[in-house]
Amino acid sequence: MSRLRFEAVKSALSRKPVNVPNLSARVTDYFGMNVFGDEAMKRYMSYSAYQKVKTCIYKGDKINGALADAVAGAMKAWAIERGATHFTHWFQPLTGSTAEKHDAFFEKQPDGSTIEKFKGGALVQQEPDASSFPHGGIRNTFEARGYTAWDPSSPAFLMEKGSGITLCIPTIFVSYTGEALDYKTPLLKALQLIDKAATDVCHYFDRDVRKVTATLGTEQEYFVIDKALYYARPDLVLTGRTLFGHAPAKGQQLDDHYFGSIPSRIKAYMQDFEQEAFKLGIPVTTRHNEVAPGQYECAPVFEDVNLAVDHNLLLMDVMEMIADKHDLKVLFHEKPFASISGNGKHNNWSLATDSGVNLLAPSTRAKENLQFLTFFVNTIRAVYEHEDLLRASVASAGNDYRLGANEAPPAIISVFIGSQLTSVLDELEHNSSVKIEKGDNLYMKLGIDKIPDIIKDNTDRNRTSPFAFTGNKFEFRAVGGSASCSPSMTVLNTIVADQLFKFKVEVDAQIIEGIKKEVAIVNVLREYIKESKAIRFEGNGYSEEWLTEAAKRGLSNLRDCPRAQLAYGTEKSRQLFIKYGVFSNVELDARNEIMLENYIMKIQIESRALGNFAVNQIIPAAMLYQNKLINSAKGLKELGLESETEYTISAIRTIAERVNTLRQAVQDMVEARKRANKLETKDAAMAYCDEVKGAFFEKIRYQIDKLEIVVPDNDWPFAKYRELLLVR
Ligand code: ADP
Ligand code: MG
Repeated sequence: MSRLRFEAVKSALSRKPVNVPNLSARVTDYFGMNVFGDEAMKRYMSYSAYQKVKTCIYKGDKINGALADAVAGAMKAWAIERGATHFTHWFQPLTGSTAEKHDAFFEKQPDGSTIEKFKGGALVQQEPDASSFPHGGIRNTFEARGYTAWDPSSPAFLMEKGSGITLCIPTIFVSYTGEALDYKTPLLKALQLIDKAATDVCHYFDRDVRKVTATLGTEQEYFVIDKALYYARPDLVLTGRTLFGHAPAKGQQLDDHYFGSIPSRIKAYMQDFEQEAFKLGIPVTTRHNEVAPGQYECAPVFEDVNLAVDHNLLLMDVMEMIADKHDLKVLFHEKPFASISGNGKHNNWSLATDSGVNLLAPSTRAKENLQFLTFFVNTIRAVYEHEDLLRASVASAGNDYRLGANEAPPAIISVFIGSQLTSVLDELEHNSSVKIEKGDNLYMKLGIDKIPDIIKDNTDRNRTSPFAFTGNKFEFRAVGGSASCSPSMTVLNTIVADQLFKFKVEVDAQIIEGIKKEVAIVNVLREYIKESKAIRFEGNGYSEEWLTEAAKRGLSNLRDCPRAQLAYGTEKSRQLFIKYGVFSNVELDARNEIMLENYIMKIQIESRALGNFAVNQIIPAAMLYQNKLINSAKGLKELGLESETEYTISAIRTIAERVNTLRQAVQDMVEARKRANKLETKDAAMAYCDEVKGAFFEKIRYQIDKLEIVVPDNDWPFAKYRELLLVR
């Protein structure tokens, strides 16, 4: 095994950057070339059909049979011309990744002749053989089948994998009885909801607004390591993270990696996957190093949420595929390495009207600023009301290792808005019961006329906040690096929509009583500012004091996934989701079940892997060294140097103690697993959390990491942190 390690280091060191030819000097020459988007539709469809499709997409209407046939025909012609042989419905099952089932265009006719076939029916709906996707019991009681249905709001695209090209059609995935079995279905519902709620509220300010779109820009963090070294860490292969490994002498303490130069192999890799992303119409723009060695970030320009979520999932696929070509491995796991930063996926979120106004951007006009404040304060109020749900939306086994650890927001949800906006809200709060006379400058009296100047230099940023206002958008930073953005976006858009609906009711009630509209709006906002104060926190979210303070304020601090996740099942959350049809009761129960089962499986795999490696590799390596020490002590004794054996004997004793502790802990952990396995899902998840992971993972790791620094380097079987992070 240690041989594998050294061979891996050797091959990693000998690799040269892959030559990546530039597709064109201008990205616009090939941007979106693999997407059946607007241009392709115009070219391959009649103008009237094209217009009908556009209208359906805009309004969210159903596309009828004849029109679907027209789209399918155009898609087929476009795809085959580009070398596609198969098509697939591309969907997002509750495993968190994406799934596909490929079918050939090619079809044999009864008379033996062959044609390339793809009709509207096959575009609109398909029945994947999907009984092995998680369904949380929904399909057990009915039929063990579900179907996928076309989502016209996310364009079809061509995926080039190996030598094959496949037409991928974004779809939702539902059971025969109509329950959602995927992440996309509830997201689309939440997005419809926020459109309705925000448009209604916009009408206080602008009667012409017809649509509001939620926007999302995802900042994706990731590690890149050499492929050979990756395989020299079977724990990474099995679980996505290292289960042990002593911190390297040099980690991220010097901060010299951040914005440092990118190594040439990595640069070639980035260039390659960026080109592939461009072909797929994914607007990736920024690339830079992150704080930890071997860690990087890329961020596409924001798009409407549904597309941005699809694009992020697609981008992760592309990044994995291209990494392989470069003999690299990309790691999205929330915490691949202990004691250095993990991977997050910051969700930058805002709302935009169809006329292009960003509703979370302060403007230079006072009237628009009241609109800004309306959406700003309502968002804060929504986060306050449902902080537990927002926390639940980012819960995963992996994220538990990240939240609250190095350079990551804590598990407590709070909102940071900066000192300038804090004073704006303070002023709004304290200047109560404004009376407006004829001729008054309304906005000056309301105290919101001078916002523009204040905001201009709003540069202070708080990296420690999980939900921060960053000038013209909120940035939800608690989302995990490997997660789909769907759950977090479903929750965020649902809670803000709900809040906006309530706001409208309250403002309208005051207007009916004869209060001037603007004053009514400010009155309601003032109450919201007061009520939601507890969620606002401008200090250091990493500090110990915040834990105490947050508890005093009654904010939840749910460190563990199975506990955080319970928020989906509270009466309050159920009412919210069911009221708007985002989830039904059955869907909520199923999802909870799936999440918990998934959690159990993840921890179970980690626990087994940890136990196996400890017993099969670590302990033998330690004992090998121990024997060397024993021989050495015997030798010294034979030479009559009895008194010189002191160090050796003490080293032998230390190793023996560590080995014994390790062996005992692994044995006890197996027993804890056995006990947990007998429990019902919810209790089993808690047991895996506390009695397996909590009781043993750190304990076992501690002993292994201590052994790593005493066992001779040559005999250590696993690639070390310094090799994983610094060799490239
Ligand atoms: P940083 O947060 O590091 O300053 P940027 O300002 O470039 O970085 O933004 C990060 C992400 O936020 C990008 O993906 C960007 O497209 C996105 N973003 C910018 N404006 C909006 C918006 N109105 N809605 C959603 N995302 C946005
Ligand atoms: Mg950012």
